[in-house]
Amino acid sequence: MSIVENLNKIHSTLPAGVQLVAVSKTRNDEEIMEAYTEGQRLFGENKVQELVRKWESLPKDIEWHFIGHLQSNKVKFIAPFVAMIHSVDSIKILKTINEEGRRAGRRIPCLLQFHIAREESKFGFSPEDADQLFSQADLAELDHVIISGVMGMATFTEDSAQVNLEFSILYKLFQKVKTTFFAGNDNFREISMGMSDDYQLAVANGSTLVRIGSTIFGERCYLKPES
Ligand SMILES: *Cc1c(COP(=O)(O)O)cnc(C)c1O
Repeated sequence: MSIVENLNKIHSTLPAGVQLVAVSKTRNDEEIMEAYTEGQRLFGENKVQELVRKWESLPKDIEWHFIGHLQSNKVKFIAPFVAMIHSVDSIKILKTINEEGRRAGRRIPCLLQFHIAREESKFGFSPEDADQLFSQADLAELDHVIISGVMGMATFTEDSAQVNLEFSILYKLFQKVKTTFFAGNDNFREISMGMSDDYQLAVANGSTLVRIGSTIFGERCYLKPES
């Protein structure tokens, strides 16, 4: 199947209100342009350098979403153009994004990443900490970020009951935070969950943004080809 066929197949299964972030990490400009020509405008990248290079060389109406772990000293490179940062995993990085947003003269949409998987991970807030996290008074003072929702990744497993449980935890967390801290605030509306192997379960659990790479572009190859 071609990139265009894969893309159309996925789009035909997504209900209205669910947006597709085409995860283009490791893909070259030609591959990205195949999806672009078909109308795809949201793309996701997880490395700052790669993202900046692609932003410079590809059409300017692409909305670039950053989905990887972000280091404070690199925020300045993407702040002028990034459409959304899905992977905010500390208050420190949120404050840095706010500062760089101010410097760039824009408000940057951000999702807070929660750790819902069974696996150990260094990244993401713990769901138990959500109340304490969102009640911090200084969050409201960050006027160059837009806190737009939550993001999470399920355990990498064949056990769909487990994955279903984890997505439902993120959905319930979102609902609770929305009614408690963002009532009447339409900016807080996104639940970024679901990848190639589990996006249908994520959609069934209320995802609004699915991040799909290999089902569109094929399996990733991280090795440099031998010449
Ligand atoms: C790579 C990546 C994806 C896409 O993964 P696929 O399995 O290729 O669909 C989604 N989210 C994040 C955070 C990623 O790093």
